[in-house]
Amino acid sequence: MLSWNDPTSYIHGLTAQQRRVLKKLDVETVGDLLSILPRRYDDYSQLVSIADIPIGESVTIKARVKSLGKIPTFRKKFVMIRGVLEDDTGSIAITWFNQPWMLEQVKIGDEIYVSGTVRQHPKYGRSFTSPIWEPANAETVAAGNIAPVYPLIGQVTQKTLRKIMKAALDEFDDAPEVIPEAVLRSAKQPKLLDAIRYAHKPETQDQAKIGRQRFAFDEVFLYQLALRLARAKADEGGAPQVPFDEKFAKSFSAKLPFELTADQKRAVWAALQDMEASRPMRRLVQGDVGSGKTAVAAFCAAMVYRQGFSVAMMAPTEILAKQHALTLSRFLGQHHIPVILVTSSTRILYENGDEKTLKLSEAKERMAQGRVVAVGTHALLQSGQCPPDLALAIVDEQHRFGVAQREALTVVERPDAMVPHLLSMTATPIPRSLQLTFLGDLDVSVIKTKPAGRKPISTHVLVGDVGRKMAYQSIVDAAIRGEQAFIVCPLIDPSDKLGSKSVESEVVRLKAGPLKSLKILTLHGKMTNADKDTAMNAFKNGEADVLVATTVVEVGVDIPNATIMLIESAERFGLAQLHQLRGRIGRSDKDCTCYLVATDDSVSIDRLRVMERTNDGFIIAEEDLKMRGSGNVIGTQQSGKSLFRHVRPWEDFGVMQKARDEAVKLMELDPMLDNYAELKKTAESLTESEHGE
Ligand code: ADP
Ligand code: MG
Repeated sequence: MLSWNDPTSYIHGLTAQQRRVLKKLDVETVGDLLSILPRRYDDYSQLVSIADIPIGESVTIKARVKSLGKIPTFRKKFVMIRGVLEDDTGSIAITWFNQPWMLEQVKIGDEIYVSGTVRQHPKYGRSFTSPIWEPANAETVAAGNIAPVYPLIGQVTQKTLRKIMKAALDEFDDAPEVIPEAVLRSAKQPKLLDAIRYAHKPETQDQAKIGRQRFAFDEVFLYQLALRLARAKADEGGAPQVPFDEKFAKSFSAKLPFELTADQKRAVWAALQDMEASRPMRRLVQGDVGSGKTAVAAFCAAMVYRQGFSVAMMAPTEILAKQHALTLSRFLGQHHIPVILVTSSTRILYENGDEKTLKLSEAKERMAQGRVVAVGTHALLQSGQCPPDLALAIVDEQHRFGVAQREALTVVERPDAMVPHLLSMTATPIPRSLQLTFLGDLDVSVIKTKPAGRKPISTHVLVGDVGRKMAYQSIVDAAIRGEQAFIVCPLIDPSDKLGSKSVESEVVRLKAGPLKSLKILTLHGKMTNADKDTAMNAFKNGEADVLVATTVVEVGVDIPNATIMLIESAERFGLAQLHQLRGRIGRSDKDCTCYLVATDDSVSIDRLRVMERTNDGFIIAEEDLKMRGSGNVIGTQQSGKSLFRHVRPWEDFGVMQKARDEAVKLMELDPMLDNYAELKKTAESLTESEHGE
């Protein structure tokens, strides 16, 4: 008898090794465990014969082991096991990397199930690489004929995870149901207890989908409730009204170093109108990278200051916060508006053309006085250091979709319980098909037009070493012209979370050969903020030709002289993320090029070609959605923090709409959910976890 909140140590019959695995997975309760849903299922009732295996699709076969052996390799710690499988229709090669125990577990002549994707290798022909397998004679751990395939985390094998899940499911009999029964009935959703069984131990693929979609339903439903509660709470507090000053608006426009684009003007205008009202603004500005969102923010900030209030602008990193403080001090300084930068390492006051470094206590004091434009990281909001007369909070660059959703839930309160207006800015275009569900009643401004004179970035997908060589040549040529390049490396080794190893070994490789003549700087997550700053500034000042970095450079860093970006192992990134990365270049009127270097793999190359065809972030986001499912758009990678772990927008569109409709219906009857205390608490916890971080 197990229930959702029981610790996993209550599960009977687990081996010591399985307990260690649970610990490693950071799974504390039975509920945490059962919320790890299968990524897909292997259908053992739909076996494919070897002759019919399609290339690049995931299949399951039943076959005999014809041969199996260790292949000598040059690298000491690297074990390669190769073999041949056969059935009555033919044979196929199979390779396992770094699984020496395979030789113990599988013998020639054994019958096994193998599930995986077959690739066509130019030299070795068709083969499975490190597929999952099970003996055909043993009782499969998977119930029935449909076997769950879980997302693999770290070193945990599919089999271990299946065994643990089975042990938990056998005893599990109590799932807490927070969604009202009437809602479930109206939306034709199964009970949670059933959904859990369906998802982990389905009898058919359809049943599995119904199970998983219940989880998706809950996520969207609760999110919608949370969004509406946040809105109601903000409305209750009311916002300070910021009257529009036309004369000032004109003079601000006139003194900008450029003419605002039509879309920028529309966004500014909409926000200024919103802020005239006492209902707090909740507006999201969606604009592709480089579309000029900062100027929109600066304009709004100036107006708010002009009318006697403070502004706080939050960026996700210190580097960006500093960049914003500089930009704002340039735009606002002309109107004698003080800007104060407050991060954990730096406090600078820009006032009357001067720059003054402050002590922490001085900075706090200055903020407490009010009537100031403060720039910092998100910590500024959370630490409650905001000026007491805050009338506008600007949140920039939530480039991960899930994070943008969180911002929408955040309600900042002032000491007098008033709520400042909120302007969020994101460079992640949210596909139109998802806006209604994911943005609720947030107002949206879209900046589509790019500032005049920008040329589109030309993008080329290159394959392997041959392609790389071409890209290096063009980097060298650019350096001769005095231009700069970014090289972005993915995180390869899972233990290398911050990317220092990836970056450093890449630099060693580049210095030894292809880019020997160039000056190279590095940037990765393991560096201290001060070191990152130094590197960015040095690169900005032209002290190096190339910056080798992890995706740290993804977020709004502005270096107009960088005209080339080379992205290694581009197939590992989602299209939306590649688009973000690519947006680091193309910020001047120079010709810019982005090289996407892929390893030899036909499937991913097709996907990457979308990047060659378009520079429109919205089209790319839709394509990403179609091709990868929710993966990148919703940021399931950071599963722990993401609001949406189970939603797959492309598949779940109908369920998402239902969830939204049901949420609207429920809250029309009971706007503050007074009759649903438990439900309300759960919805509100989505908001609260943000503050706790
Ligand atoms: P993002 O939307 O990615 O945050 P930024 O606000 O950083 O874009 O703007 C990118 C660059 O474009 C900056 O150098 C900015 O000064 C410039 N810019 C912004 N608006 C215009 C405009 N209307 N005309 C010309 N340049 C502009
Ligand atoms: Mg920006």
